[in-house]
Amino acid sequence: MADETPIEGVLTTMAVESLFPRLEPLLPAVQKPIQYVGGELNSTVKDWDSTEVRWALMYPDAYEVGLPNQGVQILYEVLNERDWILAERTYSVWPDMEKVLRDNAIPQFTVDGHRPVGAFDVLGVSFATELGYTNLLTALDLAGIPLEARERTDEHPIVLAGGHSAFNPEPIADFLDAAVLGDGEEVVLAISEVIREWKAEGSPGGRDELLFRLAVSGGVYVPKFYDVDYLPDGRIKRVAPNRSGVPWQVVKHTLMDLDKWPYPKQPLVPLAETVHERFSVEIFRGCTRGCRFCQAGMITRPVRERNISTIGEMVQKGVEASGFEEVGLLSLSSADHSEIGDVAKGLADRYDGSNVSLSLPSTRVDAFNVTLANELSRNGRRSGLTFAPEGGSERMRKVINKMVSEDDLIRTVATAYANGWRQVKLYFMCGLPTETDEDVLAIADLAQRVIATGREVSGRNDIRCTVSIGGFVPKPHTPFQWAAQESWENVDARLSKLRAAIRSDRKYGKAIGLRYHDGQPSVVEGLLSRGDRRVGRVIRAVWADGGRFDGWSEHFSYDRWVKACEEALAGEPVDLDWYTTRERGEAEVLPWDHLDAGLDREWLWEDWQDSLDEVEVEDCRWTPCFDCGVCPQMGTEIQVGPTGQKMLPIVGVSQARQADLLAPAGSRDSG
Ligand code: SF4
Repeated sequence: MADETPIEGVLTTMAVESLFPRLEPLLPAVQKPIQYVGGELNSTVKDWDSTEVRWALMYPDAYEVGLPNQGVQILYEVLNERDWILAERTYSVWPDMEKVLRDNAIPQFTVDGHRPVGAFDVLGVSFATELGYTNLLTALDLAGIPLEARERTDEHPIVLAGGHSAFNPEPIADFLDAAVLGDGEEVVLAISEVIREWKAEGSPGGRDELLFRLAVSGGVYVPKFYDVDYLPDGRIKRVAPNRSGVPWQVVKHTLMDLDKWPYPKQPLVPLAETVHERFSVEIFRGCTRGCRFCQAGMITRPVRERNISTIGEMVQKGVEASGFEEVGLLSLSSADHSEIGDVAKGLADRYDGSNVSLSLPSTRVDAFNVTLANELSRNGRRSGLTFAPEGGSERMRKVINKMVSEDDLIRTVATAYANGWRQVKLYFMCGLPTETDEDVLAIADLAQRVIATGREVSGRNDIRCTVSIGGFVPKPHTPFQWAAQESWENVDARLSKLRAAIRSDRKYGKAIGLRYHDGQPSVVEGLLSRGDRRVGRVIRAVWADGGRFDGWSEHFSYDRWVKACEEALAGEPVDLDWYTTRERGEAEVLPWDHLDAGLDREWLWEDWQDSLDEVEVEDCRWTPCFDCGVCPQMGTEIQVGPTGQKMLPIVGVSQARQADLLAPAGSRDSG
């Protein structure tokens, strides 16, 4: 059992005082103490008493992963721009700090004002991955907030989940008061207004009334207002509201004009080392390429582009405000922006000869992507280029709707190697629906052809290709939501065969790097992705057994999850396999059917059938609408250019700063 020294009661005495005086003397005892100190450039600490609504925003992973998270940074800024709202950040503390906090009865704290999380009105947690669920429980427990929502009183914050995993929050429904689906910018303000009004009225009806007001707004899911009934075989019979006025379906939020919301304007600059040290500008939201495995692409539709002028302005101001020397152009498929050529050229011209380097997470497999990368890397090293064919064989790529032929890929890598790139990274998945050993072994053939082509066009022998493989996990709101997940044993066996095929190739094998993880964490991710409320018991059991940081291989224990499933689901007609390797039928009620991502369920089913027939679907940006349902259902539309605008030269930058930006690399004063 984890050490669960109770710390409830601390909050009542500590109120909203800064905990830093108690924390500071203890910091030398923990690893990387700087991550708990706060005070980053562009961070904010407001006066507590002069604000009306207070949010603690959490990314449920360590500071080094959580700080760069765009979603949290955007909401932090959007909320703090209102003078009546206060927002502070909190991250998961490492196990050594958890022990220090428990030993000293110090609660979970924010890194900004070092205020106790339990004192805020809302604890908003952004889940990019389900493997952060046990970290939520640690934070709640450390904060003195009861783990189960039904045990909370008016003294406790509203615990609210967002992020992609919130599109099926059922496995953590018992621990949440509420969840929101989709873009957060507008809804956090709407929620703040509801809380402000309710407080101004003297908090009538307490916590229950506040949650009810949020639920009837239609845009906030409050799990306790929905009952789930099960069939004797374990499937869900029905999910229905248990309060009149609460909607049957909760819909996602879609921000329709990204140019009006150019956040982050003041990017946070980390104090400790983090996974990304760059300023990222999101150039569009949504994706309509229709890759059937991709939950992000499905749930963020329709495509909404930021225009070239806004992008130019955001880059300029963000670099000015932060001093970052790397700018990333972020989206689900950045080369698809209708004016990406002009964006890349405009930025490359602007920062030519300066210390600012530009990058594009390049996954689209075509030669144009290489042209863009050439443009953006004018200033920097030409190290590696990344492409994502995802499936090894042509057949597999048809199943997943990744419309890339082997010849496309070879043409693309030939262009890359001919342009002086020495390293190409290729992303694939293993365990996809209908996959066979042959489909995975085709990755080896492809990699060998890549090296052969690269040697031929570059005339060099030192080129490399790295093959990186992730385990496929079927996700809610995708055509594969009905698919059986492959067992980890089969995934591992296929990957072993692939490794043997690459290693045994004496001509090309040494030029091919292979990176993959074993299949067990994917099974747990599968359980948490498509689970229902019964899985909450498993999460709690894992946490009580010491489960923390499940996204980190050094902390993850598959055996702990298996044991917890056996114990927590004993007596139920369901088990780990039932949730993961079982194919679902069309009529089965899925745990997230009452949560509306805008996609038409019939369209998703047809797309799943098309997948099995290896039928591909085009992108609706360039072909007629194929009726996925999002636009009519949500009252939205695709927003793409071209606008015909060109990126403007730098304006409003101080002369000294401009001279600094334009100084040759290495000439800037590091002091
Ligand atoms: S409704 Fe039509 S236009 Fe809108 S995202 Fe779906 S397929 Fe594209």
